[in-house]
Amino acid sequence: MKTLIEDATIVAFKDGRHTTMNNAVLMFEDDAIRYVGDAYAGDVDHKIDGRGKLVLPGFVNTHVHVTDTAFTRGWMEDWTGHGTNVTGLYQVLPAVRGAIGAQDEFAGAECGFAELLLSGCTTVVELGFDFEMLEGGDIAHTRKIADIAGAMGLRCYVGPRYRSGRWSLGNNGKVQYHWYPDRGRSRMDDCIKFCREYDGRFNGRLKTMLAPGQVDTCEPDMLRETRTRANESGLSIQLHAGQSPTEYRSIKERHGCTTIEYLNDAGLLGRDFIIGHGMFLSDDGDVDRCSAKELSILQESGTSIAHLPWVKARQGSFMNSFAKYRAAGINMCLGTDTYPFDMVAEMRCAATLCKIAEKRTAVGSAEDIFAAATSAGALALGRPDLGRLAEGCKADIVLMDITRPHAVPMRDPLKFVVFSASASDVDTVIVDGQTIVENRTIKTMDLPAALSRLNEASRRVWARVHL
Ligand SMILES: [Zn+2]
Repeated sequence: MKTLIEDATIVAFKDGRHTTMNNAVLMFEDDAIRYVGDAYAGDVDHKIDGRGKLVLPGFVNTHVHVTDTAFTRGWMEDWTGHGTNVTGLYQVLPAVRGAIGAQDEFAGAECGFAELLLSGCTTVVELGFDFEMLEGGDIAHTRKIADIAGAMGLRCYVGPRYRSGRWSLGNNGKVQYHWYPDRGRSRMDDCIKFCREYDGRFNGRLKTMLAPGQVDTCEPDMLRETRTRANESGLSIQLHAGQSPTEYRSIKERHGCTTIEYLNDAGLLGRDFIIGHGMFLSDDGDVDRCSAKELSILQESGTSIAHLPWVKARQGSFMNSFAKYRAAGINMCLGTDTYPFDMVAEMRCAATLCKIAEKRTAVGSAEDIFAAATSAGALALGRPDLGRLAEGCKADIVLMDITRPHAVPMRDPLKFVVFSASASDVDTVIVDGQTIVENRTIKTMDLPAALSRLNEASRRVWARVHL
Protein backbone atom coordinates (compact mmCIF):
# COMPACT_ATOMS: atom_id res chain seq x y z
CA MET A 1 0.00 0.00 0.00
CA LYS A 2 1.26 3.47 -0.92
CA THR A 3 0.71 6.35 1.51
CA LEU A 4 1.47 9.98 0.78
CA ILE A 5 2.03 12.61 3.47
CA GLU A 6 1.50 15.93 1.71
CA ASP A 7 1.81 19.68 2.37
CA ALA A 8 4.05 19.07 5.38
CA THR A 9 7.21 20.44 6.94
CA ILE A 10 9.54 17.47 6.72
CA VAL A 11 12.88 16.87 8.43
CA ALA A 12 14.50 14.85 5.65
CA PHE A 13 17.96 13.30 5.64
CA LYS A 14 20.13 14.66 2.85
CA ASP A 15 23.90 14.71 2.34
CA GLY A 16 24.51 13.22 5.78
CA ARG A 17 22.36 15.75 7.69
CA HIS A 18 18.82 16.24 8.90
CA THR A 19 17.47 19.06 6.73
CA THR A 20 14.10 20.81 6.82
CA MET A 21 11.91 20.93 3.72
CA ASN A 22 8.78 23.12 3.64
CA ASN A 23 5.61 22.23 1.70
CA ALA A 24 7.13 18.86 1.01
CA VAL A 25 5.78 15.34 0.50
CA LEU A 26 6.83 11.90 1.67
CA MET A 27 5.60 8.67 0.10
CA PHE A 28 6.00 5.29 1.75
CA GLU A 29 4.98 1.93 0.40
CA ASP A 30 4.30 -0.77 2.98
CA ASP A 31 7.26 -0.61 5.38
CA ALA A 32 9.67 1.53 3.32
CA ILE A 33 10.03 5.18 2.38
CA ARG A 34 10.05 5.52 -1.42
CA TYR A 35 10.19 9.27 -1.93
CA VAL A 36 10.88 12.49 -0.03
CA GLY A 37 10.76 15.72 -2.01
CA ASP A 38 8.74 18.64 -3.32
CA ALA A 39 6.00 16.77 -5.18
CA TYR A 40 4.92 13.24 -5.99
CA ALA A 41 2.92 12.63 -9.15
CA GLY A 42 2.27 8.87 -8.94
CA ASP A 43 -0.87 7.12 -7.73
CA VAL A 44 -1.25 6.40 -4.03
CA ASP A 45 -3.77 4.43 -1.94
CA HIS A 46 -3.97 6.74 1.03
CA LYS A 47 -3.16 10.36 1.82
CA ILE A 48 -2.29 12.04 5.13
CA ASP A 49 -2.84 15.78 5.35
CA GLY A 50 0.45 17.20 6.61
CA ARG A 51 -0.75 20.78 7.10
CA GLY A 52 0.08 21.93 10.62
CA LYS A 53 2.33 18.93 11.09
CA LEU A 54 6.06 18.53 11.46
CA VAL A 55 7.22 15.20 10.03
CA LEU A 56 10.21 13.64 11.77
CA PRO A 57 12.04 10.33 11.78
CA GLY A 58 10.92 8.23 14.75
CA PHE A 59 13.24 8.57 17.72
CA VAL A 60 15.74 5.80 18.45
CA ASN A 61 15.88 5.42 22.22
CA THR A 62 19.02 3.37 22.80
CA HIS A 63 18.60 2.53 26.49
CA VAL A 64 15.46 1.93 28.60
CA HIS A 65 14.24 -0.31 31.40
CA VAL A 66 10.47 -0.63 31.06
CA THR A 67 9.65 -3.22 33.68
CA ASP A 68 10.72 -1.49 36.89
CA THR A 69 10.82 2.21 36.07
CA ALA A 70 7.20 3.03 36.91
CA PHE A 71 7.70 1.60 40.41
CA THR A 72 10.94 3.47 41.14
CA ARG A 73 9.39 6.83 40.25
CA GLY A 74 8.68 8.65 43.50
CA TRP A 75 11.32 6.69 45.42
CA MET A 76 14.52 7.79 43.73
CA GLU A 77 14.25 11.56 43.84
CA ASP A 78 15.47 13.88 46.58
CA TRP A 79 16.83 10.93 48.56
CA THR A 80 18.95 11.99 51.51
CA GLY A 81 21.75 9.49 51.58
CA HIS A 82 25.41 9.16 50.73
CA GLY A 83 25.87 11.82 48.06
CA THR A 84 25.28 11.75 44.32
CA ASN A 85 25.20 8.55 42.30
CA VAL A 86 25.44 6.26 45.30
CA THR A 87 22.26 5.96 47.31
CA GLY A 88 19.84 5.83 44.39
CA LEU A 89 21.78 3.32 42.35
CA TYR A 90 23.11 1.06 45.07
CA GLN A 91 20.41 1.20 47.73
CA VAL A 92 17.01 2.50 46.56
CA LEU A 93 17.01 0.84 43.14
CA PRO A 94 17.83 -2.69 44.40
CA ALA A 95 15.26 -2.32 47.22
CA VAL A 96 12.43 -1.38 44.85
CA ARG A 97 13.46 -3.86 42.19
CA GLY A 98 13.54 -6.64 44.78
CA ALA A 99 9.85 -5.98 45.51
CA ILE A 100 8.68 -6.41 41.90
CA GLY A 101 6.97 -9.66 40.86
CA ALA A 102 6.40 -11.05 37.36
CA GLN A 103 2.87 -9.67 36.90
CA ASP A 104 4.13 -6.27 38.07
CA GLU A 105 6.90 -6.36 35.47
CA PHE A 106 4.39 -7.03 32.68
CA ALA A 107 2.15 -4.17 33.85
CA GLY A 108 5.19 -1.88 33.93
CA ALA A 109 6.27 -3.00 30.47
CA GLU A 110 2.89 -2.32 28.82
CA CYS A 111 2.70 1.21 30.17
CA GLY A 112 6.39 1.88 29.66
CA PHE A 113 6.16 0.95 25.99
CA ALA A 114 3.02 3.10 25.74
CA GLU A 115 4.83 6.11 27.17
CA LEU A 116 7.70 5.57 24.74
CA LEU A 117 5.39 5.39 21.73
CA LEU A 118 3.49 8.50 22.81
CA SER A 119 6.74 10.48 22.99
CA GLY A 120 7.64 9.51 19.42
CA CYS A 121 10.03 6.60 20.03
CA THR A 122 9.71 4.09 17.22
CA THR A 123 12.82 2.07 18.13
CA VAL A 124 13.73 1.28 21.73
CA VAL A 125 16.44 -0.79 23.35
CA GLU A 126 14.92 -2.52 26.37
CA LEU A 127 17.44 -3.79 28.89
CA GLY A 128 15.52 -5.93 31.35
CA PHE A 129 16.29 -6.24 35.01
CA ASP A 130 14.68 -9.46 36.21
CA PHE A 131 18.11 -11.07 36.46
CA GLU A 132 18.31 -9.31 39.81
CA MET A 133 15.39 -11.26 41.22
CA LEU A 134 16.73 -14.08 43.36
CA GLU A 135 20.07 -13.42 41.67
CA GLY A 136 18.88 -15.42 38.69
CA GLY A 137 15.94 -14.24 36.69
CA ASP A 138 13.37 -16.09 34.64
CA ILE A 139 13.87 -15.85 30.90
CA ALA A 140 10.15 -16.61 30.46
CA HIS A 141 9.50 -13.07 31.74
CA THR A 142 11.76 -11.68 29.03
CA ARG A 143 9.85 -13.62 26.38
CA LYS A 144 6.57 -12.19 27.60
CA ILE A 145 7.95 -8.63 27.62
CA ALA A 146 9.33 -9.07 24.11
CA ASP A 147 5.90 -10.30 23.01
CA ILE A 148 4.25 -7.23 24.55
CA ALA A 149 6.57 -4.89 22.62
CA GLY A 150 6.03 -6.83 19.42
CA ALA A 151 2.24 -6.89 19.76
CA MET A 152 2.14 -3.14 20.42
CA GLY A 153 3.88 -2.52 17.10
CA LEU A 154 7.16 -1.08 18.39
CA ARG A 155 10.55 -1.76 16.91
CA CYS A 156 12.34 -3.15 19.93
CA TYR A 157 15.82 -4.47 20.69
CA VAL A 158 15.53 -6.68 23.75
CA GLY A 159 18.67 -7.24 25.81
CA PRO A 160 18.01 -9.49 28.82
CA ARG A 161 20.83 -8.89 31.25
CA TYR A 162 23.18 -11.24 33.02
CA ARG A 163 26.07 -10.71 35.41
CA SER A 164 28.38 -12.41 37.88
CA GLY A 165 27.40 -10.42 40.96
CA ARG A 166 25.28 -7.67 42.40
CA TRP A 167 25.67 -4.56 44.52
CA SER A 168 24.40 -3.43 47.86
CA LEU A 169 25.13 -0.44 50.02
CA GLY A 170 26.71 -1.17 53.41
CA ASN A 171 25.78 0.74 56.55
CA ASN A 172 29.06 2.62 56.19
CA GLY A 173 27.89 4.05 52.88
CA LYS A 174 30.34 1.87 50.91
CA VAL A 175 29.26 -0.22 47.94
CA GLN A 176 29.61 -3.96 48.44
CA TYR A 177 29.71 -6.65 45.77
CA HIS A 178 28.13 -10.12 46.19
CA TRP A 179 29.34 -12.67 43.67
CA TYR A 180 27.45 -15.63 42.16
CA PRO A 181 29.44 -16.57 39.04
CA ASP A 182 27.83 -19.98 38.46
CA ARG A 183 24.28 -18.67 38.52
CA GLY A 184 25.44 -15.74 36.40
CA ARG A 185 26.89 -18.11 33.86
CA SER A 186 23.73 -20.17 33.54
CA ARG A 187 21.68 -16.97 33.24
CA MET A 188 24.01 -15.87 30.44
CA ASP A 189 23.36 -19.12 28.57
CA ASP A 190 19.59 -18.60 28.95
CA CYS A 191 19.89 -15.05 27.64
CA ILE A 192 21.91 -16.07 24.61
CA LYS A 193 19.39 -18.82 23.85
CA PHE A 194 16.57 -16.27 24.07
CA CYS A 195 18.45 -13.86 21.78
CA ARG A 196 18.92 -16.50 19.10
CA GLU A 197 15.29 -17.65 19.41
CA TYR A 198 13.65 -14.20 19.29
CA ASP A 199 15.88 -12.22 16.94
CA GLY A 200 13.87 -11.20 13.87
CA ARG A 201 10.37 -11.97 15.18
CA PHE A 202 7.40 -9.68 14.45
CA ASN A 203 8.39 -9.14 10.85
CA GLY A 204 11.91 -8.20 11.93
CA ARG A 205 10.76 -5.48 14.35
CA LEU A 206 11.86 -7.53 17.34
CA LYS A 207 15.62 -7.76 17.60
CA THR A 208 17.84 -8.95 20.39
CA MET A 209 21.09 -7.86 21.94
CA LEU A 210 23.63 -9.26 24.37
CA ALA A 211 23.52 -7.30 27.61
CA PRO A 212 26.04 -8.09 30.32
CA GLY A 213 24.79 -6.04 33.29
CA GLN A 214 27.48 -3.62 34.34
CA VAL A 215 31.21 -3.34 33.83
CA ASP A 216 31.83 -3.84 37.56
CA THR A 217 29.37 -6.71 38.12
CA CYS A 218 30.62 -9.01 35.35
CA GLU A 219 33.79 -11.05 35.72
CA PRO A 220 36.38 -10.57 32.94
CA ASP A 221 35.71 -14.07 31.60
CA MET A 222 32.02 -13.26 31.20
CA LEU A 223 32.86 -10.15 29.18
CA ARG A 224 35.32 -12.04 26.97
CA GLU A 225 32.76 -14.79 26.41
CA THR A 226 30.19 -12.12 25.50
CA ARG A 227 32.49 -10.84 22.75
CA THR A 228 33.02 -14.37 21.42
CA ARG A 229 29.28 -15.07 21.39
CA ALA A 230 28.57 -11.71 19.71
CA ASN A 231 31.04 -12.49 16.96
CA GLU A 232 29.50 -15.93 16.43
CA SER A 233 25.90 -14.74 16.39
CA GLY A 234 26.15 -11.27 14.83
CA LEU A 235 24.28 -9.84 17.84
CA SER A 236 25.36 -6.45 19.17
CA ILE A 237 26.21 -5.71 22.80
CA GLN A 238 25.26 -3.08 25.33
CA LEU A 239 26.87 -2.77 28.78
CA HIS A 240 26.40 -0.24 31.58
CA ALA A 241 29.76 1.45 32.16
CA GLY A 242 30.86 4.86 33.34
CA GLN A 243 27.86 5.02 35.64
CA SER A 244 29.47 6.35 38.80
CA PRO A 245 32.82 7.34 40.33
CA THR A 246 32.44 4.29 42.60
CA GLU A 247 32.43 2.02 39.59
CA TYR A 248 35.49 3.74 38.07
CA ARG A 249 37.44 3.32 41.31
CA SER A 250 36.43 -0.31 41.71
CA ILE A 251 37.72 -1.17 38.20
CA LYS A 252 40.98 0.63 38.99
CA GLU A 253 41.42 -1.20 42.30
CA ARG A 254 40.47 -4.60 40.94
CA HIS A 255 42.22 -4.54 37.57
CA GLY A 256 44.80 -1.74 37.84
CA CYS A 257 43.57 0.06 34.74
CA THR A 258 40.99 2.57 33.57
CA THR A 259 37.50 1.51 32.46
CA ILE A 260 38.28 2.12 28.79
CA GLU A 261 41.50 0.07 29.03
CA TYR A 262 39.58 -2.68 30.80
CA LEU A 263 36.85 -2.79 28.13
CA ASN A 264 39.53 -2.83 25.46
CA ASP A 265 41.42 -5.69 27.15
CA ALA A 266 38.17 -7.66 27.36
CA GLY A 267 37.83 -7.22 23.59
CA LEU A 268 34.41 -5.61 23.89
CA LEU A 269 34.95 -2.33 22.04
CA GLY A 270 33.67 -2.26 18.47
CA ARG A 271 31.04 -0.97 16.07
CA ASP A 272 28.55 -3.41 17.56
CA PHE A 273 29.17 -2.23 21.12
CA ILE A 274 27.25 0.45 23.04
CA ILE A 275 28.37 1.82 26.38
CA GLY A 276 25.27 2.74 28.43
CA HIS A 277 25.99 6.01 30.29
CA GLY A 278 29.73 6.46 29.54
CA MET A 279 29.76 9.39 31.91
CA PHE A 280 32.40 8.47 34.47
CA LEU A 281 35.12 7.07 32.24
CA SER A 282 37.58 9.08 34.33
CA ASP A 283 37.66 9.59 38.11
CA ASP A 284 35.63 12.80 38.07
CA GLY A 285 33.76 12.27 34.82
CA ASP A 286 35.69 14.96 32.92
CA VAL A 287 36.48 13.65 29.44
CA ASP A 288 39.66 15.78 29.48
CA ARG A 289 40.98 13.46 32.21
CA CYS A 290 40.86 10.52 29.79
CA SER A 291 44.16 10.17 27.95
CA ALA A 292 44.37 10.91 24.24
CA LYS A 293 45.17 7.22 23.80
CA GLU A 294 41.98 6.16 25.58
CA LEU A 295 39.83 8.44 23.43
CA SER A 296 41.51 7.24 20.27
CA ILE A 297 40.95 3.60 21.32
CA LEU A 298 37.25 4.39 21.74
CA GLN A 299 37.01 6.32 18.50
CA GLU A 300 38.96 3.87 16.35
CA SER A 301 36.91 0.95 17.64
CA GLY A 302 33.69 2.62 16.48
CA THR A 303 32.12 2.14 19.92
CA SER A 304 28.97 4.20 20.61
CA ILE A 305 27.94 5.85 23.86
CA ALA A 306 24.27 5.94 24.86
CA HIS A 307 24.07 9.27 26.66
CA LEU A 308 21.41 9.18 29.41
CA PRO A 309 21.46 12.69 30.87
CA TRP A 310 18.27 13.11 32.90
CA VAL A 311 18.62 10.11 35.23
CA LYS A 312 21.99 11.48 36.37
CA ALA A 313 21.03 15.16 36.29
CA ARG A 314 18.33 14.61 38.87
CA GLN A 315 21.00 13.13 41.15
CA GLY A 316 23.25 16.15 40.69
CA SER A 317 25.72 15.16 37.98
CA PHE A 318 26.18 15.71 34.26
CA MET A 319 28.36 14.48 31.41
CA ASN A 320 31.42 16.66 30.86
CA SER A 321 30.80 16.61 28.05
CA PHE A 322 28.72 15.37 25.13
CA ALA A 323 30.56 17.90 22.94
CA LYS A 324 34.02 16.64 23.97
CA TYR A 325 33.16 13.04 23.07
CA ARG A 326 31.73 14.18 19.76
CA ALA A 327 34.85 16.24 19.05
CA ALA A 328 36.86 13.06 19.69
CA GLY A 329 34.86 11.40 16.91
CA ILE A 330 32.79 9.10 19.11
CA ASN A 331 29.27 8.19 17.99
CA MET A 332 26.98 9.73 20.62
CA CYS A 333 23.43 8.49 20.83
CA LEU A 334 20.68 9.18 23.33
CA GLY A 335 18.38 7.25 25.64
CA THR A 336 16.01 7.94 28.50
CA ASP A 337 17.11 5.05 30.77
CA THR A 338 14.31 5.53 33.31
CA TYR A 339 11.48 8.03 33.82
CA PRO A 340 10.05 9.88 32.16
CA PHE A 341 10.26 7.93 28.89
CA ASP A 342 10.24 11.22 27.05
CA MET A 343 12.82 11.65 24.30
CA VAL A 344 11.77 15.25 23.68
CA ALA A 345 12.58 16.18 27.27
CA GLU A 346 15.75 14.09 27.13
CA MET A 347 16.98 15.99 24.07
CA ARG A 348 16.46 19.31 25.80
CA CYS A 349 18.24 18.05 28.92
CA ALA A 350 21.20 16.79 26.85
CA ALA A 351 21.52 20.09 24.98
CA THR A 352 21.25 22.21 28.11
CA LEU A 353 23.69 20.17 30.21
CA CYS A 354 26.23 20.20 27.39
CA LYS A 355 26.08 24.01 27.25
CA ILE A 356 26.38 24.23 31.05
CA ALA A 357 29.33 21.81 31.10
CA GLU A 358 31.14 23.75 28.38
CA LYS A 359 29.95 27.19 29.52
CA ARG A 360 29.09 28.20 25.96
CA THR A 361 25.99 28.16 23.79
CA ALA A 362 27.38 26.89 20.48
CA VAL A 363 27.79 23.28 21.69
CA GLY A 364 25.02 20.73 22.19
CA SER A 365 23.32 22.23 19.13
CA ALA A 366 19.84 21.22 18.04
CA GLU A 367 21.35 19.50 15.01
CA ASP A 368 23.82 17.42 17.06
CA ILE A 369 21.29 16.48 19.72
CA PHE A 370 18.58 15.62 17.19
CA ALA A 371 21.08 13.38 15.37
CA ALA A 372 21.90 11.65 18.67
CA ALA A 373 18.19 10.90 19.16
CA THR A 374 17.74 9.56 15.64
CA SER A 375 20.44 8.72 13.06
CA ALA A 376 23.33 8.26 15.53
CA GLY A 377 21.23 5.87 17.61
CA ALA A 378 20.39 3.95 14.47
CA LEU A 379 24.09 3.82 13.56
CA ALA A 380 24.87 2.40 17.01
CA LEU A 381 22.42 -0.42 16.23
CA GLY A 382 24.00 -0.94 12.81
CA ARG A 383 20.80 0.29 11.17
CA PRO A 384 21.35 3.01 8.58
CA ASP A 385 17.74 2.33 7.49
CA LEU A 386 16.39 3.82 10.75
CA GLY A 387 16.43 7.28 12.32
CA ARG A 388 16.25 9.18 9.06
CA LEU A 389 13.65 10.13 6.47
CA ALA A 390 15.20 9.17 3.14
CA GLU A 391 14.42 6.90 0.22
CA GLY A 392 14.92 3.24 1.11
CA CYS A 393 14.68 3.74 4.87
CA LYS A 394 12.06 2.10 7.06
CA ALA A 395 8.77 3.97 7.34
CA ASP A 396 9.24 4.86 11.03
CA ILE A 397 7.71 8.33 11.10
CA VAL A 398 6.45 10.80 13.69
CA LEU A 399 4.04 13.67 13.05
CA MET A 400 4.07 16.50 15.56
CA ASP A 401 1.25 19.01 15.86
CA ILE A 402 2.77 22.46 15.26
CA THR A 403 -0.36 24.56 15.57
CA ARG A 404 -0.20 25.19 19.31
CA PRO A 405 1.02 28.53 20.73
CA HIS A 406 4.52 27.37 21.67
CA ALA A 407 5.09 26.24 18.07
CA VAL A 408 3.92 29.34 16.26
CA PRO A 409 5.68 30.92 14.40
CA MET A 410 8.05 28.19 13.28
CA ARG A 411 11.42 29.58 12.21
CA ASP A 412 13.63 26.52 12.72
CA PRO A 413 11.97 23.10 13.15
CA LEU A 414 15.02 21.30 14.61
CA LYS A 415 15.51 24.03 17.21
CA PHE A 416 11.78 23.85 17.93
CA VAL A 417 11.94 20.11 18.60
CA VAL A 418 14.97 20.33 20.91
CA PHE A 419 14.29 23.60 22.71
CA SER A 420 10.52 24.19 22.68
CA ALA A 421 8.54 21.06 21.89
CA SER A 422 6.95 18.63 24.30
CA ALA A 423 6.11 14.95 23.98
CA SER A 424 2.43 15.86 23.94
CA ASP A 425 3.00 17.49 20.53
CA VAL A 426 3.43 13.99 19.10
CA ASP A 427 0.20 13.31 17.23
CA THR A 428 0.87 10.33 14.97
CA VAL A 429 3.44 7.54 15.16
CA ILE A 430 4.06 5.16 12.26
CA VAL A 431 6.30 2.11 12.73
CA ASP A 432 7.25 -0.17 9.84
CA GLY A 433 4.57 1.54 7.77
CA GLN A 434 1.81 0.85 10.30
CA THR A 435 0.04 3.71 12.11
CA ILE A 436 0.37 2.81 15.79
CA VAL A 437 -0.55 6.18 17.33
CA GLU A 438 -3.21 8.44 15.80
CA ASN A 439 -4.56 11.63 17.41
CA ARG A 440 -2.34 10.84 20.42
CA THR A 441 -4.14 7.52 20.94
CA ILE A 442 -2.41 4.15 20.79
CA LYS A 443 -4.39 1.88 18.46
CA THR A 444 -2.74 -1.38 19.46
CA MET A 445 -3.68 -1.50 23.15
CA ASP A 446 -6.31 -0.57 25.73
CA LEU A 447 -4.28 2.04 27.61
CA PRO A 448 -6.80 2.82 30.39
CA ALA A 449 -6.99 -0.90 31.25
CA ALA A 450 -3.19 -1.16 31.23
CA LEU A 451 -2.88 1.88 33.52
CA SER A 452 -5.36 0.33 35.90
CA ARG A 453 -3.24 -2.88 36.00
CA LEU A 454 -0.17 -0.73 36.68
CA ASN A 455 -1.87 1.04 39.57
CA GLU A 456 -2.80 -2.31 41.10
CA ALA A 457 0.76 -3.55 40.62
CA SER A 458 2.21 -0.46 42.27
CA ARG A 459 0.14 -1.11 45.41
CA ARG A 460 1.56 -4.65 45.62
CA VAL A 461 5.14 -3.54 44.95
CA TRP A 462 5.28 -0.55 47.26
CA ALA A 463 3.84 -2.57 50.15
CA ARG A 464 6.86 -4.87 49.82
CA VAL A 465 9.58 -2.18 49.67
CA HIS A 466 11.72 -1.96 52.80
CA LEU A 467 14.00 1.05 53.00
ZN1 LIG B 1 20.30 1.52 32.51
